[in-house]
Amino acid sequence: MKFPAWMTGGGDGTFYIRSAYSFLVASSTEALEHIIIVKRFPIRLLSDVRFPDYRRVLFVISHPDDECMFFGPTIRSLTKREDCQVNILCLSKGNYEKQGKLRRDELWKSCSTLGIPQSNITLVNATHLPDDPNVEWKVETIAKIISKAVESLDIQAVITFDRDGVSQHPNHCAVYYATASLCLAGLMPKGCKIYTLDTINIIRKYISLFDLVCTFMMSTNWCIISLKEAKVVRAAMQQHVSQMRWFRRLYIIFSRYMFINSLREINLSDIELEMQIQDS
Ligand SMILES: [Zn+2]
Repeated sequence: MKFPAWMTGGGDGTFYIRSAYSFLVASSTEALEHIIIVKRFPIRLLSDVRFPDYRRVLFVISHPDDECMFFGPTIRSLTKREDCQVNILCLSKGNYEKQGKLRRDELWKSCSTLGIPQSNITLVNATHLPDDPNVEWKVETIAKIISKAVESLDIQAVITFDRDGVSQHPNHCAVYYATASLCLAGLMPKGCKIYTLDTINIIRKYISLFDLVCTFMMSTNWCIISLKEAKVVRAAMQQHVSQMRWFRRLYIIFSRYMFINSLREINLSDIELEMQIQDS
């Protein structure tokens, strides 16, 4: 009986697999190299940031985990810039399941993973801003908090949710309306720009990197990160242990927000037009 090269016949009628382990390792390495060459190369090629150079940026989020679940690519792109100070303003401690203290610690760990120092995190612990989709957050209250943070930190760009809040969560949408109200009232400092994170449809949301084409065609500002940076964002997500359920794991694998963020600069005329459309 003739055996393949990696097998040898046994003299006593039995046969054993010679160096089967080595064979498996060699095959796995080959497969891995294939994955790295075929998959990683275009990812590296396409990793790209198109976002102006600001020195002080403020991310306004609603809950601990928003920072990495939605804004991870932008945060990683900016923390890598040597002269950019990234700040986080989180408006609730995420107490929906009475795990506020734990979620605060998770936020700290996640920010540390993303490269944001603890001193740049502000966590608002206010009873009137609970983590609860059924409680309407007052726009005026949030606007005051944002305005205070922008002034005290001398912020040049605020980045937050758009009116659909990526996941339509009312707490996310409320942050947008508060920011828009500041802009409408002329209360944002001159020179402070506002950017909102694009909410995209559910198909685009879960096709991961395949959304690149749509992003390039439809956006003016974007942050697309490499596989290596995406691992950092994934690691930050995994710091939110209390939230790590099966659907979150699927989100990490398939969501486009783990690799790609597209952002829109909003100004007064955009907001006024939007309000007119809403009223009509
Ligand atoms: Zn949230």
